[in-house]
Amino acid sequence: MYELDNLSIAYENTPVLQDISLHIKAGEKVVVIGPSGVGKSTLLKKMYELRQQESTLIHQDYALVPQLSAFHNVYIGRLDEYPTALNLLNLLKPQRRYLEEIRPIFQSLGMEEKMSDSVSNLSGGQQQRVAVGRAVYRRCPIILGDEPVSAIDPHQAGTVLQLLKKSAPTVVLAMHDVQLALEHFPRIIGLRDSGVCFDLEASDVNGALLADLYQSEHG
Ligand code: ADP
Ligand code: MG
Repeated sequence: MYELDNLSIAYENTPVLQDISLHIKAGEKVVVIGPSGVGKSTLLKKMYELRQQESTLIHQDYALVPQLSAFHNVYIGRLDEYPTALNLLNLLKPQRRYLEEIRPIFQSLGMEEKMSDSVSNLSGGQQQRVAVGRAVYRRCPIILGDEPVSAIDPHQAGTVLQLLKKSAPTVVLAMHDVQLALEHFPRIIGLRDSGVCFDLEASDVNGALLADLYQSEHG
């Protein structure tokens, strides 16, 4: 699905990722961790570029349309699948068929009662769950998520991660909460110093490796 070999990415003249080699097979569930600024978002954006037709990216800043309702923001996930006339109709008055199709997603996110609320009236964690809902509704074979549970409390975050895992065969996330990542994902990639520091099964990731990974953040 992804065969990155000696990939380097720079902004202007500043190198971010250098000589990264990384293979991810269809059906894998992977989390990328590492200190802030190491290039996690850059890597996910690159992966999205490489597989735009088959993937959806949950942006770190959610990228919602604040004027629209939570329902509409999720509906947008399939905007390009439907005829324009239907999209306009649903914009003016959400049709029952689409409300019922999208309702279960809001139920899994614990937000059914917020469906018709304007996104600008929702809390950060609720907005983030709407962004997750839009990616789920898109029904792509690959979900890429840039810290998709960063604003959600740990208990709820577990539920959201389960939803993401069952919504696409291949899921690649960047995450800040390492414990949560280890609990829910089988493969963990640690980025440090513009490269891959480790690429291991979650059960093989230990405290010493993590201390080493995040060392540059503190020293
Ligand atoms: P992470 O997601 O791990 O925090 P990012 O991928 O966002 O890291 O950023 C990696 C590095 O690239 C950082 O030093 C950041 O400042 C820099 N960077 C990110 N986006 C841009 C950009 N559009 N232009 C210039 N530098 C950028
Ligand atoms: Mg980032």
